[in-house]
Amino acid sequence: MPVAIHPSVDNGFKPAAENFKGGTLTCKCASNPVTVKITSQSAHNHACGCTKCWKPEGAVFSVVAVVPRDSLSVTANGNKLKVVDANATIQRQACTGCGVHMYGRVENTKHPFYGLDFIHTELSKEQGWSPPQFAAFVSSIIESGAKPDQMGAVRARLKEIGLEPYDCLSPPLMDYIATHVAKASGVLKA
Ligand SMILES: [Zn+2]
Ligand SMILES: [Zn+2]
Repeated sequence: MPVAIHPSVDNGFKPAAENFKGGTLTCKCASNPVTVKITSQSAHNHACGCTKCWKPEGAVFSVVAVVPRDSLSVTANGNKLKVVDANATIQRQACTGCGVHMYGRVENTKHPFYGLDFIHTELSKEQGWSPPQFAAFVSSIIESGAKPDQMGAVRARLKEIGLEPYDCLSPPLMDYIATHVAKASGVLKA
């Protein structure tokens, strides 16, 4: 049996739909669910092994993408949302009823990811979101209980389904962060 990564990638995934314009994320509460409307396609979708991203029951990785914060609005039961960790770079807004993270916002205006909100597209019924492209923070699954001697099998399975495993973010995103830092310090002239 192959190593399970996440229900939305274990059986492969579909390509992004052309001209896809977003959808509605709904939490898992049976009544009065929180809904969040997104009016854009997602970007940089990836599997994440960190301990902070929300994962569905039994999943080893989360699957998380970004959208411009201007394209995201809470459309119902926003009073149920609470920030998980106010000190984290990404302020993850979790539903106090079911625990699902509805979106994560970067509030530090100096952070390279300011302007982006992190979302889990699996919370939407709409089909056509950008598919996951890589796996980030793979080694961190050990912190959530994965056995170190299983890591070879996990990385092999990620490669098999087309998600290149990295132990931080992907090279393009790491370059993006370093470019932002270098411009801010003056090392790199804009
Ligand atoms: Zn809920
Ligand atoms: Zn994460």
